Amino acid sequence: MSPRNEPSFRQSVDLMFNRAVALMDLPPGLEEKIRVCNATYTVRFGVRLRGRIQTFVGYRAVHSEHMEPVKGGIRYSQGVNQDEVEALAALMTYKCALVEAPFGGSKGGLCIDPREYDEYELEMITRRFAYELAKRDLINPSQNVPAPDMGTSEREMAWIADQYARMNTTDINARACVTGKPIGAGGIAGRVEATGRGIQYALREFFRHPEDVKKAGLSGDLEGKRVIVQGLGNVGYHAVRFLSEEDGAKIIGIIERDGALLDEAGIDVEAVHQWIVKHGGLAGYPDARHVADGSAVLEHECDILIPAAVEGVINLGNAKRIRAPLIIEAANGPVTAGADEVLRERGTVIIPDLYANAGGVTVSYFEWVKNLSHIRFGRMQRRQEEARHQLVVNELERLDRYLGDAWSISPDFKEKYLRGADELELVRSGLDDTMRAAYQSMHEVWNGREDVPDLRIAGYLVAIERVARSYRAKGL
Ligand code: NAD
Repeated sequence: MSPRNEPSFRQSVDLMFNRAVALMDLPPGLEEKIRVCNATYTVRFGVRLRGRIQTFVGYRAVHSEHMEPVKGGIRYSQGVNQDEVEALAALMTYKCALVEAPFGGSKGGLCIDPREYDEYELEMITRRFAYELAKRDLINPSQNVPAPDMGTSEREMAWIADQYARMNTTDINARACVTGKPIGAGGIAGRVEATGRGIQYALREFFRHPEDVKKAGLSGDLEGKRVIVQGLGNVGYHAVRFLSEEDGAKIIGIIERDGALLDEAGIDVEAVHQWIVKHGGLAGYPDARHVADGSAVLEHECDILIPAAVEGVINLGNAKRIRAPLIIEAANGPVTAGADEVLRERGTVIIPDLYANAGGVTVSYFEWVKNLSHIRFGRMQRRQEEARHQLVVNELERLDRYLGDAWSISPDFKEKYLRGADELELVRSGLDDTMRAAYQSMHEVWNGREDVPDLRIAGYLVAIERVARSYRAKGL
């Protein structure tokens, strides 16, 4: 928990925004127009459960409508409040601008602990919440498109999509009302893994910039880097699984609600994930040391710290004791504005949330486009691409026969080259390209301007400039 003298999450986002705009030359009034949250709708609704009516409180905040639809996840957590959804909605505005997803920022939340309800009850609650939002166009393919966030997954998105479709029976684009759906309900390959995959692509791009890596006091690439993750949910699990399986990183610490696991030799992420699915927590996992005070493990020595759970976990209370030289914010707002300053002074490099976890909204953008175009990516081109590749392979085989023993085609070349890209490969390629381009835009500002102290301010500068340009073009 943050100490009492710490700014709230929303104040933290505003402070970071203010630091960035102080370095810009925006026309009078535009700064305020961009900063404020345009509207927040609060809904209180009842659902009959277990023989009585239970009342739930939910929110949907719309931060900026410089582009529509607005976009942002729906979170299920007992800690949800207006301040939090407004901070998260603001982050969505900057995030979408930074990765050039053509959306304004929004966010929603329901005050609920989803673990206290069974699947049927959650469906009743979700459908009723969706109904309340949809009838006010706060769920709508052209105005407001939610996605999963903490406590929700593709299951809830499928219920929301179906609820919207029932209320809008002639809307041919109804499926585009929400993203993060299962494939069978209009989803896209690669959405579930997208935010974690984006963390991997972000780190790869960071390590392609040796001057940035040096600022963190690190060297080389991801191979052998010692990683600690907090939160082995959707984002954290995929991020550390890919980093360990594909990049040679070593996961030495996993922090969850019920403590942490530590093992310098490296932890088997998949085995821990399966353990949590079966037992509901880390306790009892046999192949690593269990530490009861999980948050203390944030302070453990490592190369890369990945907070992937909740906001405010690195704050004025522990910032001075954080030893990781590189932090990548997989969660939204895990480092408070106060801690951000302390860490910057100590030379810690932070890859900020508005960039780091943008993989989710990027692939959501692809899903939304897929729903509006009513066709799977790659369906038209794949076989034509393969046919063209076949022409090249035929020629190479002719050459192979002609040259005899002097030269031959590599054994797996034909198979690899012939296969046209499927939807998953196209999605990953689009995500990789997006994460690279967005990092490069922040990197240029960070390294190109003396007055820009870190990647976060660089990211805000790029994003706010784009939002301002869009407002200016509208004549505002
Ligand atoms: P999730 O519910 O799938 O996982 C969260 C995990 O964190 C769970 O395993 C939970 O047990 C753990 N956790 C919760 N509180 C904790 C605590 N205090 N200490 C340790 N562990 C704790 O959620 P998610 O979708 O992975 O989201 C995680 C973060 O990433 C959130 O901040 C969310 O806003 C952000 N995010 C998610 C997405 C997405 O696509 N899901 C996209 C962008 C950002």
